[in-house]
Amino acid sequence: LMDLGVQKDAFLSQISHELRTPMTSIRSFSEILMAEDEIDHEERQRYARIMHGEARRLTRLLDDLLDLSVLENGQVVLNRDEARVSDILDRAITATEARTGRQMRIERSPRDEDVTIVTDADRLLQVFVNLISNARKYCAADDPVLRIAVHRTGHSLTVDFIDNGDGIPPRAESLIFEKFARVSDDRHAGGAGLGLAICREIMQRLGGTISYLPGQGGAAFRVTLPMDAGRIAA
Ligand code: ADP
Repeated sequence: LMDLGVQKDAFLSQISHELRTPMTSIRSFSEILMAEDEIDHEERQRYARIMHGEARRLTRLLDDLLDLSVLENGQVVLNRDEARVSDILDRAITATEARTGRQMRIERSPRDEDVTIVTDADRLLQVFVNLISNARKYCAADDPVLRIAVHRTGHSLTVDFIDNGDGIPPRAESLIFEKFARVSDDRHAGGAGLGLAICREIMQRLGGTISYLPGQGGAAFRVTLPMDAGRIAA
């Protein structure tokens, strides 16, 4: 185990690395725009679009970092209330459609989802959105399908998200919940690798867990939740 000082240094150097790449790109393209008088309209549009995309990436990175820092340092206020699992899943699917626009068939089981739990629905939504948008981003199957399965076992509830893509290679399974962990090197496909780290923190706050399920023929994530988080110490 690394000591805390070393961990902090590693974290800071990762952050500056993540910030540097979009910053460099924004600077280079703005320099071209400043220096060249004769850039045709289309080129100009292209550069502006790249700069805009990189700026948005930076904003998202900062939002994720702040969220993670709040979650890790414990100043989180949970708003627990009764919520129907099917409603939270509906909202999550709608939100990811707007965000990515890629087509993916989603298989659900309405009867199992028709269950009411006590939890912070907005935080749980955040976890579901992350898992569904990851499936949309990373599942490379020709006919991408995401199966969402809800099971009740005693006082807890499991929600599985199983897609039909390549999944996570065994050597990476233990790493993906770490900050800045990305399996592929394609920076533009995804985010900074903070999404699953945030999910893990949220699930811990909600008194549940999130884990990777190997051997499901695609990427598979399991979320477990107490049926009534109110009974867990706040
Ligand atoms: P990011 O913000 O980069 O999407 P995440 O923490 O959400 O980061 O995910 C970490 C990494 O795990 C991703 O970069 C991707 O390589 C891998 N991953 C996550 N979900 C899936 C999936 N459904 N299929 C394949 N790979 C995935």
